[in-house]
Amino acid sequence: MRLVTFRRTRNDDGRARLGAIPEGGQEVVELSGAYLNAPRSMLDLVEGGAEALRVAALNLAHLPKRYSLSEVRLLAPFPMPRRNIFCIGKNYREHVNEVSFIEPKEGEQPPRVDAPAHPVVFTKATTAVIGPDAAIPSWLDDTDSTDYEGELAVVIGRGGRGIAAADAMDHVFGYTIVNDVTARRLQKRHGQWFVGKSLDGFCPMGPCIVTADEIPDVSQLKVQTRVNHDLRQNGCVGDLIFDIPTLIETLSRGMTLLPGDIIATGTPAGVGMGFDPYRFLEPGDEVEITIEPIGTLRNPVA
Ligand code: MG
Repeated sequence: MRLVTFRRTRNDDGRARLGAIPEGGQEVVELSGAYLNAPRSMLDLVEGGAEALRVAALNLAHLPKRYSLSEVRLLAPFPMPRRNIFCIGKNYREHVNEVSFIEPKEGEQPPRVDAPAHPVVFTKATTAVIGPDAAIPSWLDDTDSTDYEGELAVVIGRGGRGIAAADAMDHVFGYTIVNDVTARRLQKRHGQWFVGKSLDGFCPMGPCIVTADEIPDVSQLKVQTRVNHDLRQNGCVGDLIFDIPTLIETLSRGMTLLPGDIIATGTPAGVGMGFDPYRFLEPGDEVEITIEPIGTLRNPVA
């Protein structure tokens, strides 16, 4: 299923609603409150497990509240996640080099930097989350170094602690797209990355969650980022240094993962900081991250 959180554009009452986009992709069917014991939100649906998904799919064709795409505004699938978004740094080999912060000597290639021996984990604040088409407020970054990072994000379904890699995919609810927007100079200045990664609006997410059953081999997915239609990142999930089962095993080793947890798996090479000179985002730019079959997460920069 293709699941969204949305608001109506007409008669908007400010309520975030849970919906599904049936095959064809031309309408949004409202799930929240639409049948007996229907989930009220994305988190509600995720917590309901396989049975809640099965009932939603069963009801989908018969539900009365259907909106054309022009009648809705998509929000982030989780407009306010239950806790910080887990993120993995330096998880594509070529990206490790481009963000090494090492200035090459004149006329020399930058030195190769070793890939991390263990996953590099940080988080982004929940208040950083924005939805598709919402503006990334680069003006909040007073260091003028706002950068994009297109990433596949995993949504945890069944939680747990001590999840073995071999069982990890059974704990995946689905997949979405995250732009791990980063204020590079803040990231560097503060040592720990949290400040530079958690500015308001620095975590665009969406446009939908595609459930895991529709993506049998996640390693085949391509991650492409365009800035003003110029292709900057063109990676493949199969090139992750630490794959999704390893990430889930690592995170859950001593910490309980919860339904609705989000893990942004890392970004491939081609971020603005990887260019010489740097190509940071500026007001008026537009960032598009495409991962099919999830779609395109598009955000203007303000
Ligand atoms: Mg990242």
